[in-house]
Amino acid sequence: MATIFIDKSNFFYNLDKISSINPNILAVIKDNAYGHGIITISKLLKEYGIKKVCVRNNEEAEIVKGFFEEILIFNPKTSRNALNVSYAINSLNQLKKNRHPYIHLKIDTGFRRNGILEEELDEALDFCLKRNFEIRGVFSHFCCADEIGGDTFIQYDKFLKVKEKVLNFCEENSLNRPYFHIANSSALSKLPDTLDYVRIGIAMYGGIEGFKGVMSLVGDVVSIRELKEKEGCGYNKAFMSKKNMKITTIDVGYADGIPYFKNGCKLKETNALGKISMDYMIVEGEFDKKVIVFDDIKEFVKNFDTITYDILVKMSPRIKRIIK
Ligand SMILES: *Cc1c(COP(=O)(O)O)cnc(C)c1O
Repeated sequence: MATIFIDKSNFFYNLDKISSINPNILAVIKDNAYGHGIITISKLLKEYGIKKVCVRNNEEAEIVKGFFEEILIFNPKTSRNALNVSYAINSLNQLKKNRHPYIHLKIDTGFRRNGILEEELDEALDFCLKRNFEIRGVFSHFCCADEIGGDTFIQYDKFLKVKEKVLNFCEENSLNRPYFHIANSSALSKLPDTLDYVRIGIAMYGGIEGFKGVMSLVGDVVSIRELKEKEGCGYNKAFMSKKNMKITTIDVGYADGIPYFKNGCKLKETNALGKISMDYMIVEGEFDKKVIVFDDIKEFVKNFDTITYDILVKMSPRIKRIIK
C-alpha cells in the first residue's frame, strides 16, 4: 500500500522559520491540512506549541476542537458553537444572521472575494455591540502577495486604517482589544510589521521557496517486467521503448490525487512512463519494494501546469499518513 510520510523535522524547521518572523501563528489546517491529514498535523502543531488554527468549516472544527485554544472557521454556519471556536464574518449579511458570539471580522481590502466593505464597517461594529458579539479578531487577505509589486501595500495600508478605526471603537465602548492578522505565507517576509498574528498555510507545509517539503509519497511495487525494444507500455502505448529495458509498476495512480499525465513524469529517483492509470503508474527501471514519487512538492509540481497547493490538497485521504 502506498504511504504518505510527514517529515516532522522539516515541519518543525518551517515553524521555527515562521516563528523567527512572528511567533504568534494562526496555523491554517483547512482542507485536511492541505492534504497532509488534519489529525496528524494537529498532533504535531500541538506538540510544537501552536494554540490557534484556522479550518474551512464546522465539520473540520469538530475534529480538532480538543487540540487547540482557538479554532477559527473560515466559512462557518450560523448556529452557536463552543467557546474555543470563532466564526469568520464574510459579509454584513452573514453577520446579521449569525448566532455564534465569538467572531473575527473579515475586511475586504481589495481581494473582492469575501469580507465586510470599508463603508460597511461602522454598521458592522454597531451591530456587534448591539448583539454582544465578542470581536476576537479582525483580518483581511492579500490577493497578490506572491507577486513582486502588486496590490499588497495598498491593501496593507487600508487594513491599518481599519485597525485604527476598530481600536477607537473598542476603546470608546470599553470592549476588549481584538487581535489583527493579515499576513499569509507569501506576505510573511514582505511586510514591515506582520501585526499581532500571522495566518500561515503553505509555508508550514514547505510548498514555497525557502521552506522544506513536509509530505512525501511512496508507492509500493506491484510488479516488474521487461520491455523489448520498440515495445509500448500502458494505455495507448504512450511510451515506446528505444531499447530493452526493465519497468516497474507501482500502486499510485490518478485516483490517489496525482494530476493526470499523458507523457511521463519526473519522480524523485526515476521517471514515470507514458500515461498514468487510475491506480497505477509504470516507472523506468527495476525497483525492489518501494518507489518515492516525490519528497519535495516544489520539485514535483514542475511536471504540471498547476501550483503546489493544488497537488497537496488533493492527495487522497485514503492513503495512510505516517509521521517520520
Ligand atoms: C488559505 C488561507 C490562508 C493561508 O494562505 P497560504 O498562502 O497557504 O499561507 C490564509 N488566509 C486565508 C483567508 C485563507 O483562506
